[in-house]
Amino acid sequence: MTPAAAGHRVEPRPRFARVAIVGLGLIGGSLALAARGAGVFGRVIGVGRSRANLDEGLTRGAIDEATDDAAAAVIGADLVVLGVPVASMTSVVRAMLPSLGADAIVTDVGSVKAPLVADLDELLAGHARFVGGHPIAGTERSGMAAAFGELFRGRCCVLTPSPRTDPAALAKVRSLWEAVGMRVVDMDAARHDRVLAMVSHLPHVVAYALAGEIEACEAAGEELVPFSAGGLKDFTRVAASDPALWRDIFTMNRDEVAAGIRAYRERLERLEGLIRDGRGDELREELERARSLRRRVES
Ligand code: NAP
Repeated sequence: MTPAAAGHRVEPRPRFARVAIVGLGLIGGSLALAARGAGVFGRVIGVGRSRANLDEGLTRGAIDEATDDAAAAVIGADLVVLGVPVASMTSVVRAMLPSLGADAIVTDVGSVKAPLVADLDELLAGHARFVGGHPIAGTERSGMAAAFGELFRGRCCVLTPSPRTDPAALAKVRSLWEAVGMRVVDMDAARHDRVLAMVSHLPHVVAYALAGEIEACEAAGEELVPFSAGGLKDFTRVAASDPALWRDIFTMNRDEVAAGIRAYRERLERLEGLIRDGRGDELREELERARSLRRRVES
């Protein structure tokens, strides 16, 4: 369904003349490639710490300039995209505050929203116009080398406006994500964190837990991995994600993730009881319900 067909207002394509992408990784790099492809970015400055990653961005035409100096990069920018790990967002913004133009739009792509939106709304008040966002698209890979311009096409982007959000800035950020093929939804930041804890953060916890348990069995001398097939590979794919990135997401969204783990543990205990007691009919009903959900995830 197109955004228009879904009842969303499709904004006219924006044109951002000068864009700073602070954190040119999987998400920041993919946005640079996609927005360039869609003709909505003029000059793009990539900000990062490692030269090799920035050079990859220059070589692939994602950015025009590269620097490790966020404060210098945002001078004259009409759009600043924060693409760094969630725990680094506020320190990166603090460093750039004196250089931001009052009319500049600052938006982020962080996977946790409520604490970030509260901090960045506060920090950026009177300095720039902040819009919280989370493009729900990704892979288990990291860095500019993993970036690709089609990453966002057909996926959902959540924007989390607060009472402080400038409506014109919100509309421009919405039209940016629409221009790269996303369906954009506005959501309260706390609800975002509750929803994403269940559909994204918890699956990562579970994959890391299973991979960690198998690693521990192998460390104790039981050879397992050579006998695995598609099940283990599919189930643990996201456990190949960057541990530092996910440590930050889990700890920043700790209450919601912990609540998800508790609910999941209860579900496991129920399954354990049905299996241990040989209650086949109830077990099958439980598996049927789970399979119907899985079919909806697939479609
Ligand atoms: P990533 O590929 O590791 O990219 C992060 C980039 O930020 C790296 O290229 C890193 O490059 C740079 N960086 C880190 N700290 C920095 C700092 N202090 N100053 C400047 N640059 C810095 O990670 P990602 O997957 O794109 O995730 C980035 C953000 O997107 C996170 O907030 C995450 O929550 C969010 N997100 C991730 C996904 C996903 O599935 N991966 C999906 C949606 C949103 P250097 O090390 O060279 O500085």
